[in-house]
This record gives sequence, structure tokens and C-alpha cells, in this order.
Amino acid sequence: MSDTPTTTLIRNLAWLVAWDAPNKRHVYLRDADIAFRGGEILHIGPGFAGKADRVIEGAKRLVIPGLINVHTHPTSEPLRKGITDETISPGFWHSSLYEFLTVFNTDDAGAKACMQVALAELLMSGVTAVADLSVPFDGWLDTLAESGIRACIAPMFRDARWYTEDGHLLKYEWNKANGRKGFDNAQRLIELARQHPSGRLMGMVCPSQVDTCTPELLRDAHDFAKERNLPYQIHASQSVVEFHEMTRRTGLTPVQWLNSLGVLDDRSIIGHCIFVDEHPWLHWTTRTDLSILAETGTTVAHCPTVFVRRGITLRTFGEYRRKGINVGIGTDTYPHNFLEELRIAMHLSRTTAGTVPDAMTADVFDAATIGGAKALRRDDIGRLAVGAKADLVLVDIEHPAMRPMREPLRSLIHVAAERAVSDVFVDGQQVVANGKCLTIDLDAASAALEEAQARSLRDVPKHDWAKRSADQLAPMSLPIVDRI
Ligand SMILES: [Zn+2]
Repeated sequence: MSDTPTTTLIRNLAWLVAWDAPNKRHVYLRDADIAFRGGEILHIGPGFAGKADRVIEGAKRLVIPGLINVHTHPTSEPLRKGITDETISPGFWHSSLYEFLTVFNTDDAGAKACMQVALAELLMSGVTAVADLSVPFDGWLDTLAESGIRACIAPMFRDARWYTEDGHLLKYEWNKANGRKGFDNAQRLIELARQHPSGRLMGMVCPSQVDTCTPELLRDAHDFAKERNLPYQIHASQSVVEFHEMTRRTGLTPVQWLNSLGVLDDRSIIGHCIFVDEHPWLHWTTRTDLSILAETGTTVAHCPTVFVRRGITLRTFGEYRRKGINVGIGTDTYPHNFLEELRIAMHLSRTTAGTVPDAMTADVFDAATIGGAKALRRDDIGRLAVGAKADLVLVDIEHPAMRPMREPLRSLIHVAAERAVSDVFVDGQQVVANGKCLTIDLDAASAALEEAQARSLRDVPKHDWAKRSADQLAPMSLPIVDRI
């Protein structure tokens, strides 16, 4: 075997989304070639003259940069399909966090199956880099590496867990030793990720939620992120309950309080950040949260699907960006169909603002590429440029859902989504071919996930405050009858 990296050429591309570095923007190139050697882009533009080991004809293809998912929970969320789609939790403003996420649990075998199903779906919808916010389990890093994706592990840790005894009062069971233990383990895993032989893993420091961590843990975690130059992510302003819990405890909004601790800067990412002071449901008086986010350089990880299912949305994606806030996109929950997530982000923004230009196609595409790269502190992904990583997605422009093919990104995001994604490369390695994931046995993982969900459903009454069954907590959409 030779150690010389192979060179791949995709030639005569019908369309290519290239990075125009001087103007800091994506642009369309036509009739162009893209070549990469090993994991790095070597050439973009017409007439590649070098030698290639593999040549792919591009006349029927659009190539875009691999998409970046800045917030997802692949270890647990796929198991809740058919359950948290319709969360009914009136005592908690229908958030799924306090009555549902605490009872539908995943065991280790289920965690791996969940993750494989989620990663396959992400890869097949054009995601090449993902921030994985998980409770660590054995085999986590290897499962990520084997999938071929580029991953930023975000091992979650916290001082308190949520519980309720009545379905309307949220309580916290504090255990600071547990928080420290989780933080120590996260540091160890982040180092293992950095050293991982795949070269595709990195780490992020992730105290789980603003309301479940002590100020000491939040500050120490931020100090560690700073010392190692890592991103830092936390869930905050994610529910009405949490917003009022924090104002009750501190007199400040979650964003103001995090800022007062000194943990918001350009390495910080806030997961969700919907319930900011100006959100109309809160009737709060200050109007500083969005300017704090913009001035500190904090990124917002916007995950529209998981909220819109509960009738909740950020106000608005376009408004946050106009205020100067960096926004990245995440899937948080199933489906892990990133292209659909972009469409939903755009539609919600337009609907909430009541205008079309609140969020244009280019805006969500930017958030999903360079917005995400900035959040992960990377300038070598989320763009197709010489010297950047060979993380790229080939789209079949002759797929019926892409035609008539006047405007490639609109056809892809507004209509076709993952159906037209044909091939995906991460770090120069092909991970999707003809729309199928090469690195994960999706049928086997789906079967294992079904078994894991069945195990989880059986245990629900043990964990629910009212000892309800899974069917009582999440009834079927239609009655099942013996006959009619
Ligand atoms: Zn989350």
C-alpha cells in the first residue's frame, strides 16, 4: 500500500457553490472542476490539469460544501420518534423537557443504534460535520469515527437533574459531586477525541443547561474551553419554565445571567435561545438579551423543528442575524434531515416576521455552512476553497424534484431536500453513494433501535411522576380496533 494520498477530480460540474474569500460569500460557478487530494481541496475552477486517481463526471451534478449541524442529540432523540412529536405537558407550557425527556430513556445498546440511525440520516442529507451533545457511553467516539462524519463531541455534564412530583412544579435534585465527575470525564473524552486516529474528531465543552449548573461549574468549564481554545455550548432560554426559574433565582434573564458570569464570548454557543427578554410570552421589561449576544460574539444554535412541534419559535432567525448574532442550525431531534431543517427555519422566520426577506435561501445556507463553521471555530469547513477540507456534497440535478433546474439551492432546499443528494465526501472519503450511506448498516441499526424503543416504553411507568404508561403519556393518533 502506498501512503500517497489519492486525488479525486469532479469535472465539468454543471453548478458549484464556491467560496469567494475576498468578499466572504458563497457564489455559483458553472462548468467548473473541483479536485481534492486526500482530505484537502486542491483546485476549484475550470480546467484542472493535474493527474487524478479517480474522475467523476459532473455534468449532471451540483456540488455544495458539506453542511454543519451545530446542535444534535443523536444518542437519544431517534428513540423518541412517535412519542415526543406531540408532547402534551400543559403544566410546563408543553415543553418536552420535564415530563417526557426524563422518562423515555435509552440504554447503552439503544444509544449506539440511535446514533447510527441519526448519523446515517445526517450524512444522507448533506451533513459532514456535527456537534454531538450526548451523555457519554462506551463506544461513543468509535461509533462516531466509524460513521465517517466529522464530529465535535460535546459530552454533557450538570450539577442537577430535573424532576416533578405533580406535573407543574419543576424541582432540581442537586449533586455537585456528580457535576464535577461529569466535567472531569468530559475533559478526558475531549482529549481522546483530539488524539483520535481518525483525525475527524474534536471536542466542545458542554455544561448541559443554564438552570442545572452552578455558577462555579459554568465558569470552570468556560475557563477550560478558553485554555484549550474549544467551543462552549449550553442550553439556555429554551423554555418558559426555565426563563422564570432563572429570573426567580437571579433577577436576571438566562442570557443576562450567563453574561454576568463572563461565560459569553465568541467561543460560546447557546442552544435554542428562544425565550429572550423581548419574547412576547414573557412580558419581561428589559431589551438587552439580543445585543448581549451580538456584542459578545455568542452563537445561537437554532433548531426549529423540535420547538415548532410544540407551537414555539424563535423571533426571528432573520432578526437575530440582522442584530449581528451569528446563527448556526441544528437538528436537536428527529428527523435528522438537515435540508428539511433549513426549509423549516426559513419558513418559520418568514411566517413569524410576516415578510419573505426575513430569511432568504442564501441566509439559511450561510447559517448552515459558515455560521456553523464559525461556531465550531473552524475556517477550513463550511466552504469550498483551495486548502479547505474536502467535505462536499454532490446533488443530482436531474432528479425530478430538482427540475426544472433554474436555481440549484432553491430546488434543493425548497423542494428536493435529501432525495437529490447522491454522494457525500468527508475529509476526501466517500461516505454516501447513490443516496445510500456506505458506512452504516441502516437496516440493522433501525432494527436495534426498534428493540431499544420497546425496552424504553416498558420502563416508562417506573420513571413517570404519575406512573403513567407510555400509551397514556403519548397516545396513538388513531384508535387501534379489532374490526369495524
Ligand atoms: Zn438540545
